[in-house]
Amino acid sequence: PNQHLDVTSFISSQPHRGKTAFVDAVTGRRLGFSELWLGVERVASCLYALGVRKGNVVIIISPNSILFPIVSLSVMSLGAVITTANPINTPGEISNQIEDSRPVLAFTTRQLVSKLSNSNHPVVLMDENRVASSGEGARAKIVGSLEEMMETETEPSESRVKQRVNQDDTAALLYSSGTTGKSKGVMLTHRNLIALVQAYRARFGLEQRTVCTIPMCHIFSFGGFATSLIALGWTIVVLPRFEMAQLLSAVEIHRPSHLSLVPPMLVAMVNGAEEINSKYDLSSLQTVVVGGAPLSREVTEKFVERYSNVRVLQGYGLTETAAIVASMFTKEETERYGSSGLLAPSVEGKIVDPDTGRVLGVGRTGELWLRSPTVMKGYFKNEEATASTIDLEGWLKTGDLCYIDCEGFVFVVDRLKELIKCNGYQVAPAELEALLLAHPEIADAAVIPIPDMKAGQYPMAYILRTAGSNLSESEIMGFVAKQVSPYKRIRKVTFLASIPKNPSGKILRRELVKLTTSKL
Ligand code: ATP
Repeated sequence: PNQHLDVTSFISSQPHRGKTAFVDAVTGRRLGFSELWLGVERVASCLYALGVRKGNVVIIISPNSILFPIVSLSVMSLGAVITTANPINTPGEISNQIEDSRPVLAFTTRQLVSKLSNSNHPVVLMDENRVASSGEGARAKIVGSLEEMMETETEPSESRVKQRVNQDDTAALLYSSGTTGKSKGVMLTHRNLIALVQAYRARFGLEQRTVCTIPMCHIFSFGGFATSLIALGWTIVVLPRFEMAQLLSAVEIHRPSHLSLVPPMLVAMVNGAEEINSKYDLSSLQTVVVGGAPLSREVTEKFVERYSNVRVLQGYGLTETAAIVASMFTKEETERYGSSGLLAPSVEGKIVDPDTGRVLGVGRTGELWLRSPTVMKGYFKNEEATASTIDLEGWLKTGDLCYIDCEGFVFVVDRLKELIKCNGYQVAPAELEALLLAHPEIADAAVIPIPDMKAGQYPMAYILRTAGSNLSESEIMGFVAKQVSPYKRIRKVTFLASIPKNPSGKILRRELVKLTTSKL
């Protein structure tokens, strides 16, 4: 694409007029593609009138909403930068992000505005039709409502001077999930996001129907529901947040062919399959894309056994690669349970020994390095972290331990940082979790290291038993011991009512480690 094409213009180049773009699953409100693009144009003009210019950052803090993409697309169309904060974050976490990204304006809801109490930039409300344009105290910051902006008629060509965007300008500043430490601001350019849309185009058909339940603030959802799938003309039924009964009702009512989920949602569907199948008609579903965290072969097998017409497509990606770089597609590919599929056509990958830097051959396990047009420009205001993550030839070090088989299928073993070092051996918690989940009385499991004078570390498991189960610690340890080498054996089991996970479905091992050390 031409050097000055911004991602919003690229997405709108196929306008899909006459079709429905978004449906609010709660209110039933529909947004057609024509209304969507008119809204984007009008909101962009209003933002320009408010002084938002190329390079400025605008933050959105909102649950999923059919209006979320209007905000992000209009910001990016101006050459400004959209950043997203997770609405479930605490005011402290949000103020850290605000301090880092320094937005000139915020979009949020009335309920969430209090989370912005420490910042002094103007605020636009997304959930009220009209708001007083000025006021006292906390209201003084509110400068208008999104609905008003969408109704403000403008002459597109005269309302603002179109600022020339360069493909390498940042379009979105998305924060990584912060699973392994402090979350980092990832700069994704117009080129990155256009390449992402092209990758979706190469993989998915046009004008299908889906339900969005994963948070749009995260790249998995942002890169799909708020950008690429709009370009493909899909109808997206939006749930404000994940809630199983609401999701299943939305599937029954709107009859999507496709869902995108994170692994814990799939696990919940596996555990509740009998009741779900008797209560809901899910017959429209053909494919479920799952990504964001490891999904074991065992869970996939149980899922396809219990929902027999549905194919599970695993996808693998990072915020740093604008999401999915490997995925499954064809029927044959989906039968490679436990794999994350093949690298996308424009993605190069190699497996590198993390200690020596040597490239490893087929089937050998090492760190996955990737080169792709979707690889980020870098971490925001963090050249050191950027330089240690992307080498001079453009290879991104993923921090994930993987192997690639002789047919090119990628298998993610675990995160390098989370390996357990036991008697000089390395143990992947994900491997043990997968084993545990295969037990019929284990509903969920997490494995973490526990310090030991002799071994250095050894694996321990947190377990959620299925309802009514009396499975004991020794039975669980015996179940694992029968299947693994002695150094991988679990030496301690603690039962929990739920395993802590983040919105992208990853186990928050740091929290479990804290819980464990506080009890030692
Ligand atoms: P932080 O870098 O701040 O600790 P994070 O890495 O969790 O956060 P994300 O960008 O949301 O932030 O997650 C990317 C990571 O998610 C990948 O590096 C990988 O570990 C994991 N992941 C994503 N998809 C899969 C998958 N299909 N299988 C296994 N792991 C996956």
